[in-house]
Amino acid sequence: MLSLHYYFRVKSNTYQPFHNFKLRPFLVRLQEARESFIPVFFSRVHNILTELNLLYVHVTIHRKRNFPSWKFFETHVLHPFENFNKSNITDIIYQKTFIEHREHYNSFVPIYTDGSKSADQVSFAVVFPNIIFSFRLHPSCSISTAEITAILYALEQIPKSIQKLFIIYTVSLSVLKAHDSVHDHTHPLVFSVLDILEKLASKGFIINFCWIPSHVGILGNEQAAKAAKSATFSINGTVPIGDLKNHIKLLLYTEWQEQWNVETGNKLHAITPTVQSWPSLKNRKADTILTRLRVGHTRFTHRHLLLEEQAPMCSKCNCTLSVHHILSECSNFNSQRLRFFNTTTISLPTLPGETQHVHLFAFL
Ligand SMILES: [Zn+2]
Repeated sequence: MLSLHYYFRVKSNTYQPFHNFKLRPFLVRLQEARESFIPVFFSRVHNILTELNLLYVHVTIHRKRNFPSWKFFETHVLHPFENFNKSNITDIIYQKTFIEHREHYNSFVPIYTDGSKSADQVSFAVVFPNIIFSFRLHPSCSISTAEITAILYALEQIPKSIQKLFIIYTVSLSVLKAHDSVHDHTHPLVFSVLDILEKLASKGFIINFCWIPSHVGILGNEQAAKAAKSATFSINGTVPIGDLKNHIKLLLYTEWQEQWNVETGNKLHAITPTVQSWPSLKNRKADTILTRLRVGHTRFTHRHLLLEEQAPMCSKCNCTLSVHHILSECSNFNSQRLRFFNTTTISLPTLPGETQHVHLFAFL
């Protein structure tokens, strides 16, 4: 995961010395000829990328705005639904308000944009009055990448028009807000949007943005949502590094989970059947004890392995002593269990689980 993160960070930054790194044939021959030669980082990553089917993914180049910060460019955002509280407004009221808004701005060409993300595809659509565009993106793209790409695509089509006044309608409030406060962690495509907006403004185009609610029967939005879901053609776009990192994490965790699912004999598997990271305790000593209980290997139950002795036996049950036996099985400790856990039958996973039983240490 770290290798892939680093690799895509290098690929997203043109100032990185290794940005254009190519494996020289000499190095490849050396690696293949000598097994003792540790392959260079890019060779190793190449194998992981191939395995995860990410070899042909292009990461979005991260760049700062190429004009100075004092030359602040303001986007014009309209809010016809500003004081609406979604809970008590019917679709009809939304539709009526929108019609009034359109009458007021009837000289502006409406463009509706929408993004869609489902389990197997990410896509976007742009609806102009006389034409609808829809494309698929790489499945690792996030929904906000789809929304911004839709806006970007709309802006790229505008110069071809003889009209000068446009309103771009989007259902994504967060995308509109991202235009206002640009910082280092801003979505990389927002910079592209701002660049195009500035170029269009200098050519006399006036572009307004407007947020509209989804699923309330606004025709253009319904068309955009439908077109996005049924997109068939892929656009050869780039994937922002943030989306790729999330995608990689998901892929690797899925694979890890698949491996973990078959480890049913593992003692830790009974405690945590899903792979996840649990917070550690602030007290180091207590944290060590808790971790040993979770993996089922403690000094008391496993010391014999080091000393080549007999495994410790339970004198009452005549079985091998294990963490499981001590915590939840052995009737020898029923009275202690009753005192600290208020029951004699308590299943193991709840005791040293994500948040351990409050009296677990007292019981020990
Ligand atoms: Zn016992």
